[in-house]
Amino acid sequence: MTKPSPNAACPCHSGAKYKRCCRPFHQGSAPPRAEALMRSRYAAYALGLVDYVLATTHPEGPNWEDDRAEWAAGVAAFSQSTSFDGLEILSSGEGEGEAFVTFRASLSKEGEDASFSERSRFLREDGRWLYHSGEPR
Ligand SMILES: [Zn+2]
Repeated sequence: MTKPSPNAACPCHSGAKYKRCCRPFHQGSAPPRAEALMRSRYAAYALGLVDYVLATTHPEGPNWEDDRAEWAAGVAAFSQSTSFDGLEILSSGEGEGEAFVTFRASLSKEGEDASFSERSRFLREDGRWLYHSGEPR
């Protein structure tokens, strides 16, 4: 996917412009809330921003891979082969250092529905929220 212009709708489907939604996070600002991180990771998948996905994954979570090149290739392949059609936040709760966000991602792959729902766990490290793990919902 080509990069959206700053005034285009954000790929996280918030309804806001990209520049007022996930773009600042993709450019380095720390999302203030775990839900914002979750949205920005969805948008990063949609845009193929592989480094952002890797950088916002918790090193102790099950999705972390030591072989960074292989991991990046896997994320890139998923990103390119998937259409990111919608995102709905079903619930979210945030504590001091831990947060949970339950969402439904509407995805399709080669015309086939690949949507899923997940309850994601986030941990805050050095002031930054990181995706730790998720379980299907
Ligand atoms: Zn967004």
